[in-house]
Amino acid sequence: MTKEIDHAVALKIKASERFLIVSHIRPDADAAGSVLGLGLALNMMGKTVQMVLVDGAEKFHYLPGWEEVIPLPVGETDMIVVVDCSNPDRVGSALDEYGQPDLVVDHHKTNLAFGDINVVEPEQVATAAILFDHFPAWGLPFNADVATCLLAGIVGDTIGFRTPNVDAELMRKAAALMDLGGDLTKIYNEELVMRSFSAIRYWGCGLGRLEYENGLVWTSLTLADREKVGYAGDDDADLVNVLSAVREAKIALIFVEQPNNTVKVSWRTRPGLDVSGIAYQFGGGGHAAAAGADIVGTLTSVQQRVIHATHQLYESRQDE
Ligand code: 5GP
Ligand code: MN
Repeated sequence: MTKEIDHAVALKIKASERFLIVSHIRPDADAAGSVLGLGLALNMMGKTVQMVLVDGAEKFHYLPGWEEVIPLPVGETDMIVVVDCSNPDRVGSALDEYGQPDLVVDHHKTNLAFGDINVVEPEQVATAAILFDHFPAWGLPFNADVATCLLAGIVGDTIGFRTPNVDAELMRKAAALMDLGGDLTKIYNEELVMRSFSAIRYWGCGLGRLEYENGLVWTSLTLADREKVGYAGDDDADLVNVLSAVREAKIALIFVEQPNNTVKVSWRTRPGLDVSGIAYQFGGGGHAAAAGADIVGTLTSVQQRVIHATHQLYESRQDE
């Protein structure tokens, strides 16, 4: 079965000249690393590639090829590939003028299999790891730049090899990517350690309002916070991963106010609990250990509804 799918992907790649590679809005390192890793490999084969992230790739200035990423595709294409994206809405407006993707490569268990061919492997830590595994069968080459991009996806989604799905086999993949020239030290520091002064001050706003109750830790970030500290992004600057460090908490949550009466919510949990279902229930998705959703409403009302529902989830699991 898998071999047949690999064969179909290899044939489609061989027969196509113009590629469109897209990932999700508010890209993380796995989204950007997968777009770039695949795009650069196709470039090496002499293919024409448009690498698309609707929110841009400035955040990933440490990845080779990031300046080639464009916010919207133009013109015709022979093959559309969507990576690290569980449903078609998550590509934003990138594919509005285009049809269904030819290929979807993803590791979210909430993936809707919305491509002609779907390579969805929820047991994998990152979409970049799926690409690493399938590149040889798809006839795609590696070089140091490709390896750095794929390694960045793995480092990002495992938060630096810290998630419980990290095993010896994954470390062998990471080592193979280093052998190919992947620059682990650089991407590890850029991705997980270095932050701008304004981002750390932004954390301060959220940390100043930190709350804890019955296994849950949470805080919010407002539009006013962003303005006050001059933080340019519309995300949480990874503060939710800092909240995950609270020992008493089993679930960490963050609420990031957005301009259009919506709130971006992120959940993080310890092994044994699964927050993907609750995120899905609120219109989002993700993984057992990390999930998110964009929810319509004011910061206060969304926070109330989500905290209530998450408390219920946590308490029902405790009874089991
Ligand atoms: P984060 O909380 O860092 O934004 O996302 C955690 C995980 O959940 C990521 O794998 C991300 O792709 C997924 N995720 C976050 N927000 C959404 C959303 O609104 N919809 C879906 N389907 N997945 C999301
Ligand atoms: Mn991912």
